[in-house]
Amino acid sequence: MIKEFLEQTRERVLGGTYRTFYSSPLVVGSASGCTITDVEGAEYLDAYNNVPVIGHSSPEIAEAVNRQLLRANTHTRYLDRPVIDYADQLVSVFPDRLESVVFACSGSEANDLALRVAAHAAGRDGVIVTRHAYHGTTRSVAEISPSLVGLDEIGEHVEAIDVPGWDEPEFDAQFAAAIRQGGIRLERRGHPCGAVVLDSALTSDGIVQPRSLVATVEAIHKLGAMYIADEVQSGFGRTGSAWGFERLHVVPDLVTLGKPMANGMPMSAVIGPRDVFAAFGESQRYFNTFAGTAASAAAAGVVLSALESGALTERARSGGARLTAQLAEIIGESEVPARVRHNGLMLGVDFLDRSESNTARRRASFIVEELYRERVLVSTTGPCANVVKLRPPLTISDEELDSIARGFGVALQRLEIAERSHGE
Ligand code: PMP
Repeated sequence: MIKEFLEQTRERVLGGTYRTFYSSPLVVGSASGCTITDVEGAEYLDAYNNVPVIGHSSPEIAEAVNRQLLRANTHTRYLDRPVIDYADQLVSVFPDRLESVVFACSGSEANDLALRVAAHAAGRDGVIVTRHAYHGTTRSVAEISPSLVGLDEIGEHVEAIDVPGWDEPEFDAQFAAAIRQGGIRLERRGHPCGAVVLDSALTSDGIVQPRSLVATVEAIHKLGAMYIADEVQSGFGRTGSAWGFERLHVVPDLVTLGKPMANGMPMSAVIGPRDVFAAFGESQRYFNTFAGTAASAAAAGVVLSALESGALTERARSGGARLTAQLAEIIGESEVPARVRHNGLMLGVDFLDRSESNTARRRASFIVEELYRERVLVSTTGPCANVVKLRPPLTISDEELDSIARGFGVALQRLEIAERSHGE
């Protein structure tokens, strides 16, 4: 009843840009820890959402935000201690060169600003991204997001390069070569490369964990471009390190943060060298009304303290290994060709089969629906939505991880039965 009412009202009042998940959308009643409870009381394990990194409805976050809302919640045109203290604490978790922060409200805004700063610093507007990159929704960021707008709609000044195969031993060398070639193509089009933007977990390219990007970053710098690490997905412990770039053995010129930064409060940031921001700031101001408020900084401080305690990275490492081992065992016993990869607690189950991409896509979306029936929330990603993506909160218990694996086993069995009955 309530579902139909909400669907109809939504249809009438919300712009037609939104998509809900699932054939029958979830109606949220409440959420706590790793669980979302629907209005009828059914409990779902949230393995989709990497925003509530320390769990849904965290009392600590609620109290920290509430305290600031009842004290003062203004903007960065005044001096306000919680915001400055948080900025100080945040930059201390980055390598030395990444010493200053500019706040924004979403991952898209952070990437938009990083592009502007890089174009200003490099004096060039060309941008290289990966073939299935997603970096957000503002106009300039949509232009560098082929997975959003399609390869035909990316900007004239944008080159989308192939990511080498996830199991390619020469990954870094091949990626570096692709960067060099992309740079030449941009130069020929009159847009020399000023920035290369890379999601450190290559999430929308199918969740890939290169062993190193040292040669790739050398190639970026040889082009005279800045390396922007998009840590919106991979930041704050998700990969088992504080930042995804650490696992790639490189230091970016600029880093963008978002999603889990304030556990659901709208907060994002660009981290970079002081002189680069200062030079940009001399010619262009950047003020973002809702960015860097005390309430958001208070929430972000709770997340950052959890990160600094080592709890998030430890859980990403041990939980990621546990769930990966269980899923690999289930897949190993199945007739369906699949492979599980993981970056800490960001897992991708790849239904391979690039030659028959529709089969892989259909299998991945079948699993997403069946896991929903098993009360586990996940989604798809990858070149042709062929990868099931799992990103639970980094406070998830072993028992909850085991439930995800159990649900996955049931979903995969149902897929086998369905395919056998269709004679595939
Ligand atoms: N970068 C990456 C890698 C993302 O995954 C996203 C969001 N899915 C964004 C940027 C954009 O973030 P937001 O939705 O907060 O604008």
